[in-house]
Amino acid sequence: MGEPPVYRRVVVKLSGEYLAGSQSFGIDQPTIDRIAGDLIAASELGVEIAVVVGGGNIFRGVEVSSRGVSRPTGDTMGMLATVMNCLALESALSRKGKSSRTLSAFVMPQVCELFTRGAAHRYLAEGKIILLGGGTGNPFFTTDTTAVLRAAEIGAQAVLKATNVDGVYSADPKTDKTAKRFERLSHSQALAGGYKVMDATAFALARETSLPIIVFSIAEPGSIGAILSGNGTGTIVAG
Ligand code: UDP
Repeated sequence: MGEPPVYRRVVVKLSGEYLAGSQSFGIDQPTIDRIAGDLIAASELGVEIAVVVGGGNIFRGVEVSSRGVSRPTGDTMGMLATVMNCLALESALSRKGKSSRTLSAFVMPQVCELFTRGAAHRYLAEGKIILLGGGTGNPFFTTDTTAVLRAAEIGAQAVLKATNVDGVYSADPKTDKTAKRFERLSHSQALAGGYKVMDATAFALARETSLPIIVFSIAEPGSIGAILSGNGTGTIVAG
């Protein structure tokens, strides 16, 4: 992408779905170990890393509610699932010798600390990776929106949205051979295009808070560090 490594602090959005590896549910240990290694390598570049972790590998509110549970309850289950993923990632990081802290949108003192800006700033300044669980703490939102919200709250310079594809495409590159990858899009273009890579609330909040979002593929080992060093492939949604 040719962008210089200008970021001091970023939020990496990691989908829960990716943590399941080739399975459809749960956590694939080699996958989470590899991602932990990539996060450590990225933080060794001197960039402060906050990670917003999704929960789609365990529960998604919409799916749970289609089976008869109320949507807010299903969403609460989804948000709790994100905390489980944070705990798994915290242990994977710890096994590799990296200190991290899970901060949750919910009060759960026996499990982890509550997210506050103060705690986030303190742990980042100590060189720890912070793992932000529990989504926004509200139903009807997503962890993509959470990533933008937390980035704005903690003064991050960008959201790194890790997905299965290396950017935003004009159509689904898996099914449409003519699909073209965008190098750069404005927030308004991303919203108008209705691209499925991120939900509209997330793009709208990023526009409101002037936060760049970089969409890139996590499937490529080392891709977080590559994006931060300006050598990665992705789409920048900004301006
Ligand atoms: N969720 C929510 N509010 C939030 C964030 C997440 O209700 O602020 C719920 C929602 O049910 C969602 C689930 O948590 O389906 C898991 O999050 P998400 O789908 O964003 O995870 P991902 O797709 O990244 O794995």
